[in-house]
Amino acid sequence: MHTDFHQKVTIEHLRREAFVYVRQSTSRQILENSESTRRQYALRDRAVALGWPIERVHTVDDDQGLSAARAENRDGFQRLVSEVALGRAGLVLGLEVSRLARNNADWQRLLELCAHTRCLIGDEEAVYDPMHFNDRLLLGLKGTISAAELHLLKARLIGGQRNKAQRGALEVPLPMGLSYNAAGAVVLDPDPRVQGSFRELFETFRRLRSASAVADRFRRERLTFPRRLRRGIGKGKLLWGTLDHSRALDILHNPRYAGAFVYGRHRVLYTAPSRKAVIEQPRQDWQVLIHNAHPGYISWEEFERNQLTLTQNRAAWTLAGPNLLPRESPALLQGRLVCGVCGTRMQVRYDPREQRLRVSYLCHNDSSHRPGKPCQSVRAPAIDAAIGALLLGTVTTAHLRKVFVVHGEMNAQTERAERERRAELQRLRHAADLKRSRFLKCDPDHRLVADALEADWNEALRRLDSLQQDHAPRPHCDEAHLDAEARVRILALAEEFPRAWNDPHTSDEERRRWVGYLIEDVTLRSAETIHLHVRFRGGQTTSLSIRHPVPTPRVLKTPAETRQALDRLLESCSDPEAAKKLNAAGHRSWLGQPFTAKRVCILRQHCGFKTRFERLRARGCLTVHEMAKRLRLCTTTVYNLGRAGVLPQQRYGNDNRCLYEPLNGAVLIRGKGGRYRSTQARLVRATPRRPR
Ligand SMILES: [Zn+2]
Repeated sequence: MHTDFHQKVTIEHLRREAFVYVRQSTSRQILENSESTRRQYALRDRAVALGWPIERVHTVDDDQGLSAARAENRDGFQRLVSEVALGRAGLVLGLEVSRLARNNADWQRLLELCAHTRCLIGDEEAVYDPMHFNDRLLLGLKGTISAAELHLLKARLIGGQRNKAQRGALEVPLPMGLSYNAAGAVVLDPDPRVQGSFRELFETFRRLRSASAVADRFRRERLTFPRRLRRGIGKGKLLWGTLDHSRALDILHNPRYAGAFVYGRHRVLYTAPSRKAVIEQPRQDWQVLIHNAHPGYISWEEFERNQLTLTQNRAAWTLAGPNLLPRESPALLQGRLVCGVCGTRMQVRYDPREQRLRVSYLCHNDSSHRPGKPCQSVRAPAIDAAIGALLLGTVTTAHLRKVFVVHGEMNAQTERAERERRAELQRLRHAADLKRSRFLKCDPDHRLVADALEADWNEALRRLDSLQQDHAPRPHCDEAHLDAEARVRILALAEEFPRAWNDPHTSDEERRRWVGYLIEDVTLRSAETIHLHVRFRGGQTTSLSIRHPVPTPRVLKTPAETRQALDRLLESCSDPEAAKKLNAAGHRSWLGQPFTAKRVCILRQHCGFKTRFERLRARGCLTVHEMAKRLRLCTTTVYNLGRAGVLPQQRYGNDNRCLYEPLNGAVLIRGKGGRYRSTQARLVRATPRRPR
């Protein structure tokens, strides 16, 4: 056998380097299977025996603890391949070829490269030359067998796992709150505090029927929730922290708390090379589900009820599907309102106050995870009224008639185009037939003529084909036809709509469903006024702007004298100045508090008074830019003139922001030394008279 080795190894090979590739799939194998590692390192001696000097034998052992199922992340293997590709390697040694690559694609690529660069491949038993057909065949087979071996190993392992799972005997990591006892059976966590926390969670959900309400209650009452470290230093240690919404959801969705054994609830999906995502499977795809397999915190029936509740709760966040009805709520835009600031869906908040339910829309962005001020919050009735009015204005017979007219015109256009297309198709088909018969009639001996006619025929066929393909996916446009009867029915519905909408017997749910038929979503942004951007089903959009709802009692509760005093003060003062003067005059807000700039601002808005700025603008005062444009000066000069008192100015803000009085007929004169004067100012003449 050794002679055979030496026949394959030539001087050409010996001039190059020898590489010994050493690898064990896992770190555990390296520790426990040290014999194999020793044998792999001993291959160096084999290379020396084959004639390589020891300093030219390199050991590639960068891939210890990595599987050979893929080439990614195996730096050693990739280095080896590049050495082979560059023609530096004369021999590659491995304990078995499966150590090099368990993946057929990687293996074949390596063989290909070795054959190209005349590199030998060897294991404990023999040396192969990939240039030789028989050796190549054998190596290929070895690679295939090794890939198959890996597959069988995996199948056997997973099969065993699945069999155990079918019996419910598979030991899997348990969620917090459950643990294995000494006999290996699943029991509730022996720590009474942990058990108590879980019981508290399920009890709270039973009462409040919402995961975020559960998290909210835990946070409000500063209840802590247990967590166990799963890996790293202090693995298995019990920690106490806050319960957030996603954690509460995870626990409520986990069937193990209902005493059920489940296998196959999650699936690992490889998205990109060496990236994996864990995907939750729907219930019907779970491989094993055994009820009452071990003690739990809730019964299976309660688990099912909880799932239903959670699904219905979710309906408020998503577009209502066919069987996902929104919860009972008087809010019209539940689940349809998007925050114009951060883009998340807004929630509905119910606040029972003075025997009345106050409903508002609230953007909860992140405040379910951390306490804080909500992003935006507006009272629901004003928004709902505006949307209702918009719908009543949109679904009218006049509007629908217009839609029908446009629809009819579009249909007529489509039909016209279709007719023209059919005629064109007919013409092209006829032309193609004509060219075909011409070609068939042609004398085959006249080759040039026949070629020209054939090219002609082909061209006609190509044009016919392209026209047919361009207009192939058209037949479904016919669905858009509405017959006269349907139109009458739709118009009748539109006439009925306002009556049904305003009918006190119509439930909120019914109205919400109509909104769902017509409106895709509404984006809300609350500023000086409330801006609503409505997206109808079908793509049409419209924008509304409504005033903030006025809490009438507050305005009425502020004494009339105070309101009048504010109106007078605003003629000459900004909000902060007005606040100071009101306080000095002894006026107080309706709650008996002294006025601040903000309180003045709120009162001013509610009373509908104009700001000082608006009043000055109404008087014709100009901004610095307008003034600069009018005087053909730069803004800095206007500022300076204002500060020097040449141009009379009026302050309106807290700082030095001001407007300029219009120069009614007055002239601005540039004097000596670049000084300006206005005729309104005390100095009138352009050049001062010098004292003699
Ligand atoms: Zn927001």
